[in-house]
Amino acid sequence: MPQGQLLASGLVEQIGENMGNAKIKTSSQSKSEQLKINHHKHGLELISNWLQSPELALMKHQSEVSAVGHRVVHGGETFAKTTEITSKVKNKIKELFSLAPLHNPANLEGINEAEKVFTAAKQFAVFDTAFFNTLPEHAYRYALPEYLYKDHGVRVYGFHGTSHLYVSKASAKFLGKPIHQCNLITIHLGNGASMAAIKNGRCIDTTLGMTPATGLIMGTRTGDIDPGVLIYLGNNVGLSADEINTLINKESGMKGLTGNNDMRAVEHLAANGEKRAQLALVMYAYRIKKYIGSYIAAIGPVDAIVFTAGVGENSDTVRQLVCLDMQHLGIEINTKLNATRSGEIRSISPPESIIKILVTPTNEELEIAQQTFTNLSANV
Ligand code: ADP
Repeated sequence: MPQGQLLASGLVEQIGENMGNAKIKTSSQSKSEQLKINHHKHGLELISNWLQSPELALMKHQSEVSAVGHRVVHGGETFAKTTEITSKVKNKIKELFSLAPLHNPANLEGINEAEKVFTAAKQFAVFDTAFFNTLPEHAYRYALPEYLYKDHGVRVYGFHGTSHLYVSKASAKFLGKPIHQCNLITIHLGNGASMAAIKNGRCIDTTLGMTPATGLIMGTRTGDIDPGVLIYLGNNVGLSADEINTLINKESGMKGLTGNNDMRAVEHLAANGEKRAQLALVMYAYRIKKYIGSYIAAIGPVDAIVFTAGVGENSDTVRQLVCLDMQHLGIEINTKLNATRSGEIRSISPPESIIKILVTPTNEELEIAQQTFTNLSANV
């Protein structure tokens, strides 16, 4: 840093499953291992051993690492920005376990493991919810009795903030406009999916809520659903709260509709005439289209609509379906530009369009590194 030069990247996946996978890549070498990875701590130990291995030659001693930036999913109302980790901060992250039961415990394990390995480094938490700190109360409150917000923290928090922040800054730079003058709709379509409405550089609304289950149709999550359906499932179908939780988070979305949560597989099925997959794609795009309409109403004249993450960056089919028949709103895609594959930020709308349609690759790791570096420099 500050050049953001990438020395190594890696991934540990399928933690807790029968067979897991860990890999690391540097400019000259790559290593991967397939083994059962029992829990997050085990995965982190694997990575930290690799980081220090003489073979990969990434560092001579762990003390060369000045800071570690951690993605922490839930910062509640406490953390509005990147924060240096102290025992007090760790306790607060623990208190927020109930709001992010799948993510915050694993994030805390990452912090504990990194503290053990990189004893000379400062640790920083970059919160996925922090970007939504600017939501106005009329956007973050639910129409529920007030005590549920005041006493139990029931409100919209939003997620994927690190990605929305990164792509909004990168898109503003691409447009050649200061971010505080940009009105953007950012659409993050990964396995999880969300949108953000950004007015003058500040996020004023988002599709994920108190939990990451609402808004867009996702790989395995329902997105928006009438809450009465959940009560019906409890009272009439005999599902417990835990079963409903698993259903709406892990068994629904594209997986529930087609049997497959991978968008590549869904597109393949649809192209081969599979009706369920064709319907699922139309439903997926229609939900995004509705939110584009509502966000235009919320933020006024839009500079750009930005697609990002696995599906957003790679699926010209989804982008085409989303932007279909929206010329009356000034939204139009150039088919040829849309079909051109690239890993670079690019515009896929006709050059004369007032609303640009951009494909902006996200880089959450770089955003975390930059925020960590900025905070480290400010602390010195
Ligand atoms: P996450 O980080 O949320 O796990 P990603 O941002 O990596 O997810 O996105 C994963 C999704 O991207 C998967 O559904 C995958 O099918 C989809 N995807 C990746 N490449 C393509 C492609 N070429 N066409 C369509 N979908 C793609």
